[in-house]
Amino acid sequence: METNSSETCPLYIAGTWRTAPKHPVLPVHNPSRGSVIGGVPMCGAAEVEEAVAAARAAFPAWRDTPPNERAQVFFRLKILLEEAFEELCLGISIEHGKTLSESRGDLRRGIEVVEFACGIPTLLMGESLENIARGIDCHTDRHPLGVVAGICPFNFPALVPMWMWPVAIACGNTFILKPSEKVPLTMQRVIGLLEKAGLPPGVMNIVHGGRECVDAILEHPDVQAVSFVGSTPVAREIHRKGTSHGKRVQAAGGAKNFIILMPDADVDRTVEAVKDGAFGCAGERCMAGSTAVAVGEAADRLLPALADLVSSMKVGPTDVKSSQPDMGAVISSEHKSRVSSLIDAGEAAGAHVLTDGRAVRVDDAPDGYYLGPTLIDHVAPDNPLMETEVFGPVLAVMRATSLDEAIVEANKQAFGNGAAIFTNSGKAAREFRRQVSAGMVGINVAVPAPLAYFPFTGWNDSFFGDLHIQGKEGVEFYTKRKTTTTRWFSFGDGEVWAK
Ligand code: NAD
Repeated sequence: METNSSETCPLYIAGTWRTAPKHPVLPVHNPSRGSVIGGVPMCGAAEVEEAVAAARAAFPAWRDTPPNERAQVFFRLKILLEEAFEELCLGISIEHGKTLSESRGDLRRGIEVVEFACGIPTLLMGESLENIARGIDCHTDRHPLGVVAGICPFNFPALVPMWMWPVAIACGNTFILKPSEKVPLTMQRVIGLLEKAGLPPGVMNIVHGGRECVDAILEHPDVQAVSFVGSTPVAREIHRKGTSHGKRVQAAGGAKNFIILMPDADVDRTVEAVKDGAFGCAGERCMAGSTAVAVGEAADRLLPALADLVSSMKVGPTDVKSSQPDMGAVISSEHKSRVSSLIDAGEAAGAHVLTDGRAVRVDDAPDGYYLGPTLIDHVAPDNPLMETEVFGPVLAVMRATSLDEAIVEANKQAFGNGAAIFTNSGKAAREFRRQVSAGMVGINVAVPAPLAYFPFTGWNDSFFGDLHIQGKEGVEFYTKRKTTTTRWFSFGDGEVWAK
């Protein structure tokens, strides 16, 4: 398995890897170096049609494969993923720019979803009640939907696609995967392992592309459900379009997650956690803590230590196994410019830059897309930094005089993915947990992203749909229930049947 191939990504349809020569090819970059490491074809409706036809043809046999046999594929895949773990992680770091230890987290969380899928026979079990009326029994069981699709963002090349297809396929569906055009290589390798694990042809299919390809998926009458993860404007549109075409849609969007710092918080552990929460994965996480609200004396107690820690962070290339930095590159030069401009605008509006990441230099990788960690204080509620998701290594700090005021600021956000509080007061934590308008809450945990067994419960403009990704809600999303009511009128004729 090559981790630095410069080939154009093939499509994977009906168990065959093949090129898509007719289409324009976008470059795939290594953000650490600013170099091109591959290409991705921008396919359209014709390839989606082929993929859907393959998935539709594979569905009856896969649906009829017993759940415990389907689970065996995931047991084998788990072993193959563990064997290839380090190589896959290096590949993630090369195409994404995150550090190797962050790539290990990305893939490890994805493998946990595979482990969850191994338990699918239990997860698919139905419910029954005997004698709902005299001589009548009732039971409900779960059935797969058919052909389902997943459309993915760039920031977790392994985890986000693996939120979707292991559960969908284990439930008996067949799948069309549209990876992010910015990081298509990781899933190509992982799906190669899924094939090796014995998945029958057509059960998983990969198409590549952008809007045209996504629209073809959303409009295709044979696609029953769509899982989407990406930015809020696109998520909202995907949900609207997909549901208007009669599909079940779960669409997770962007975020702006608040971390409330109370004056009684443990200084060392809070500062370390907040640093990781804000600058891990260069801030390109939908659960990144992007705004800290320092309540009362928390600013004086915590900010100097936080600024010291942040200014000691080393930024650099992540595409080599040795001497990994604390933080890698952002995804593209365009994204680097966008984040820099937002910091400029925040400063121009009166905020104080405590550590400035805009001018960072990485001598051994001068063409990489680097920004250092930026800590920016006294950000007012109407500062331009507060108007949008930054999705970069920037922590905006606001000040508040009370917990209530901090919660009001957090709840002004249109988003509602995560929120965290650092405090030693159980009462303050309880109040925060109850009042904050976010679907995933951390108490002295900066990134409260739930593991595979729990749903990923974004709220407000961070999620469009009814059933969330992951956990039992994921199983619910990828299945429909059938409820059967049974009555038998008589025993058969003859003595053998009679009591
Ligand atoms: P993006 O919205 O630009 O792209 C996501 C996917 O949508 C890609 O596959 C892309 O090809 C496709 N796409 C882009 N524009 C489209 C359009 N107009 N019509 C149809 N399809 C389109 O997101 P991104 O930049 O790749 O990822 C970062 C975003 O994802 C951030 O906003 C982040 O918060 C969000 N995210 C959210 C979660 C979550 O669980 N809520 C998790 C990870 C990332």
